[in-house]
Amino acid sequence: MQTKNPTIRHFENAADYRKRFIIQEQIDKYLPGGKHFIDDSEIESQLSSAAARCANDPVRIREILAKSRAIETLLPEETAALIHVTDPALFDEMESTALAVKKSVYDNRIVMFAPLYISNPCVNRCVYCGFRCDNSDQKRRVLTMDEVRQEIDVLAGKIGHKRLIAVYGEHPETSTDYFAETIRTIYERQVKSPRGTTVGIRRVNVNAAPLPVEDLRVLKQVGIGTFQVFQETYHRQTYVKLHPAGTVKGNYDWRATCFHRAMEAGVDDVGMGVLFGLYDWKFELMASLCHARDLERQFGIGPHTISFPRLEPASGTDVPTTSPYLIDDATMRRILVITRLSVPYTGMIVTCRERPESRDAFVHCGITQMDASSNIAIKGYSDFASETHQEKDRQQFVLSDNRTLEEVIAHLAREGIITSFCTAGYRCGRTGGCIMDALKTGKEGKFCKINAVLTFREWLDDFAGAATRALCEPVLNRELDAIKASLPMFYPTVKEHYDRICRGERDLFF
Ligand code: SAM
Ligand code: SF4
Repeated sequence: MQTKNPTIRHFENAADYRKRFIIQEQIDKYLPGGKHFIDDSEIESQLSSAAARCANDPVRIREILAKSRAIETLLPEETAALIHVTDPALFDEMESTALAVKKSVYDNRIVMFAPLYISNPCVNRCVYCGFRCDNSDQKRRVLTMDEVRQEIDVLAGKIGHKRLIAVYGEHPETSTDYFAETIRTIYERQVKSPRGTTVGIRRVNVNAAPLPVEDLRVLKQVGIGTFQVFQETYHRQTYVKLHPAGTVKGNYDWRATCFHRAMEAGVDDVGMGVLFGLYDWKFELMASLCHARDLERQFGIGPHTISFPRLEPASGTDVPTTSPYLIDDATMRRILVITRLSVPYTGMIVTCRERPESRDAFVHCGITQMDASSNIAIKGYSDFASETHQEKDRQQFVLSDNRTLEEVIAHLAREGIITSFCTAGYRCGRTGGCIMDALKTGKEGKFCKINAVLTFREWLDDFAGAATRALCEPVLNRELDAIKASLPMFYPTVKEHYDRICRGERDLFF
């Protein structure tokens, strides 16, 4: 039985929750003077004036690229200019600059995580989602704490993940008290790896519905990493069509201001996203950057990550296959490249929603985080013999990249990319504004490189087969050499930590 936290509100049933959940003062506070940071007509006019100018002017585009290379956030009109580039040669320059920017801020690392779906009862009726309350095909489930532990036993003990995103439907049965209890349970669970070392989850990010400030404080106390909420679409008319009136999610502004509340509650790592395929990608891209800029303006901190989900097939809905705004891979590459150039310091996430060949290409467009071995069925990791087995009516949508973590890591290693399981930043207080500054000045990159090496060593020793280890050793040695060359004073300490990890110690970080 959960203890009820007296600082947050509780609801008896779904109807009660729908009526009383949204707190208008916690919206208005962040829209000073009633002015919204998403101004549809301003975005449309920025897009049309960029279209009216010479779209493929190499001088102007190269000036903009120089700003990105200097790790400066672009102005809306500059992003709009990049959106209208159609010349393939100029786009190639944009793409290579995006990769150079990624390398200068994040080096050649991909940070690895896994989704953990914890509950799917939901009071909302988002038309594209398998969890919506009127989908009777969906099998509903709320994990007990024992079941959460069983999932961690697979994720941490068999696959080797260290960083999760915990995902929840929106329902009074799964209140913030329940979130807090599941997060504590995840952190507490320690298991043995195949090598016999003690392993566990070190960072729990959360993807959940927008919350009031008081509830976000509770999540801060239990140590969440990033609070991730996707706006789905920033286009108001489309939003209203897809999220029926009378549902909690039907309130655009409650969702749009959720990161403002998170910042106020001290949760300063926030993760934005648009669900691409719901509306015109050009508008969505411009609007999401307006959102990022408003957070910078009001709190001095932009989003820690931006995710790029695309609509995928889901149980009981044809919206994901019939929407007129679905985008192809070439468009997705443009979106990734332009985002990398517009907000050079922000982490960028592409998930297993995408096909393997798409993700392999997107790695070269500036992304910084991926998941692998993902199972999004509720209790999917512990119920199925294969970690990537799927059942449409037990999950929110269908995944396309079913490769195991080991397969993805091996692929990245062949590309010269090191997989990082680092979770040190948030545990050392390097979050929010502090990490943004460190990224902008290249300081965080140095810690990240060291922690990537140490955590990759752990994973290889605990979980990799012989062939993967042989493939990855040269990548790891090259990284160690790079640390030796760039941080000669620091290197002996790094090597000492590295050797201790080789001898079986775990969780050493900088
Ligand atoms: N229920 C909460 C909410 O909606 O904010 C938590 C997140 S929901 C479980 C996770 C995300 O999945 C949604 O924000 C949405 O962007 C995405 N999603 C829903 N249906 C999808 C689909 N058919 N294809 C791809 N992503 C989808
Ligand atoms: Fe519920 Fe989230 Fe799915 Fe909407 S997207 S129906 S809020 S789980």
